[in-house]
Amino acid sequence: MSTIADNIARVEARIRAAALAAHRDEHSVRLLAVSKTKPAEALREAYAAGVREFGENYLQEALGKQAELADLPLSWHFIGPIQSNKTRAIAENFAWVHSVDRLKIAQRLSEQRPAELPPLNICIQVNVSGEASKSGCAPDDLPALASAISALPRLTLRGLMAIPEPTEDRAAQDAAFAAVQTLNEHLRDHLDLPVDTLSMGMSHDLESAIAQGATWVRIGTALFGARDYGQP
Ligand SMILES: *Cc1c(COP(=O)(O)O)cnc(C)c1O
Repeated sequence: MSTIADNIARVEARIRAAALAAHRDEHSVRLLAVSKTKPAEALREAYAAGVREFGENYLQEALGKQAELADLPLSWHFIGPIQSNKTRAIAENFAWVHSVDRLKIAQRLSEQRPAELPPLNICIQVNVSGEASKSGCAPDDLPALASAISALPRLTLRGLMAIPEPTEDRAAQDAAFAAVQTLNEHLRDHLDLPVDTLSMGMSHDLESAIAQGATWVRIGTALFGARDYGQP
């Protein structure tokens, strides 16, 4: 059985190889370890192997692990669906939110971000799979949402996040991630928004995402093994 440290080395090698194949600097792609459903001990092991950035989907679970791991200098990213009544705790306890898909949530996060913390880094989740996905902003609505979010004082709009419909077909993966990159370039080049981030690519499709410009890959299974109970 391979350890978490072995898995991290393997994923880092995949990231390097994909960056090299795409003629990109390997340091332009960062590893976000997705630790949902995994115990604090697993995150501690990943920390010992050099991982500092962790992504969590469920607020209560994340807050529990943050308390258990308060002795470590970790950076926390919220990547799950967001209900309005959870925004305060998210604004207070995370450095990044990757899953913002409507203005009301962004406004609450900005209002509730504590003054003593730096602005909260935001990615807008965009839906490039149409009917197949329930969450994410429709591409047509993205420019207006991005402009409005970029004006909020306590948020920094960093770019886009996407979870395309899962497929093993490399051409289909490439097409979906390329669409996300095109949308981000539109925000940068036509709306003059200083976006520098594409959060895309998971265990099964990180190579394609990196070829299409990913700057965060969000990796769960390939680091921590399969999740035990029916999580996405
Ligand atoms: C669970 C999850 C991941 C990680 O997926 P794996 O296939 O386990 O690598 C990435 N992003 C989001 C938003 C997730 O919910």
